[in-house]
Amino acid sequence: MEDYPRAIMDLEERFSTDEACRDYLAQLRWPDGFVCPRCQGRTAWPASRGRVICGDCRYQASATAGTIFQDTRKPLTLWFRAIWYIASQKNGASAANLQQVLGLGSYQTAWTWLHKLRRAMVRPGRDRLSGRVEVDETFIGGGEENQPGRRTEKNALIVIAAEEDGRGIGRIRMSRIPNASRNNLQGFIQQVIEPGSVVHTDGLAAYRGLEALGYEHDITVLLNKGRNAASRLLPRVHRIAALLKRWLLGTHQGAVSREHLDYYLDEYTFRFNRRRSRSCGKLFYRLVQQAVQVEPAPYKSIIGGKANRPAKHKM
Ligand SMILES: [Zn+2]
Repeated sequence: MEDYPRAIMDLEERFSTDEACRDYLAQLRWPDGFVCPRCQGRTAWPASRGRVICGDCRYQASATAGTIFQDTRKPLTLWFRAIWYIASQKNGASAANLQQVLGLGSYQTAWTWLHKLRRAMVRPGRDRLSGRVEVDETFIGGGEENQPGRRTEKNALIVIAAEEDGRGIGRIRMSRIPNASRNNLQGFIQQVIEPGSVVHTDGLAAYRGLEALGYEHDITVLLNKGRNAASRLLPRVHRIAALLKRWLLGTHQGAVSREHLDYYLDEYTFRFNRRRSRSCGKLFYRLVQQAVQVEPAPYKSIIGGKANRPAKHKM
């Protein structure tokens, strides 16, 4: 059963101590009881500071080791409030918002936490899209979109897949690709769409051959290339692209560097696919649950190994 706080008062009452937070993390990490990360043993004794000792191999485990909470110097109660805040903001939070709301002394801490949590927004082994799925590419950043030739120098090229749900949109997936080659586009399709589905694209040659990969391929070709023709052709993908651009400019004021764009795409996808869930608690639960399943992401790995300040170039 999914056990989560229903409102901020529940959160405040229930997670007022680090011990309570740690118990909750342990419950989500080991839903069927403790499993030793080293020997897979199932018995453990409690030890000090929230640790447990494996009954078989004596390994000292903790609910936070090997997760994004590993080595944090901040209280877990503060982390839980950060996660609640991120879950409660319909359009997400910027690092500056989070810093202010939590009263964090440093912008860098807020920025790093947001990036760590974005890594928890992609569920390991998540399901692929199915049914009828629109796929198209779009440029993010800069001014010139839809340039002929689909090459990108300054802009990032994003490929988007959107399930057709009647006239509406079901679930989405997106990814940054270096260029619109057959390998990149069809590799993405295989990664995110279940074989047997109908893939709906325009007439770009790089999409040819999807049948051989087990898909039905529905091609709609542009007859008159008027303005907005592409958005009439594959309206769902173009709606997502417009919303994504607005979100990057709004919540993040365009301050997203290209090297981190992938993680913003993950956050956007996470929020979009759960847009109909009104429960903030449920989103909080999902984020904490996934946060104990992903590998730790030390600050240095987030900024790409360079020990400098977070990049904030416009894009
Ligand atoms: Zn063990």
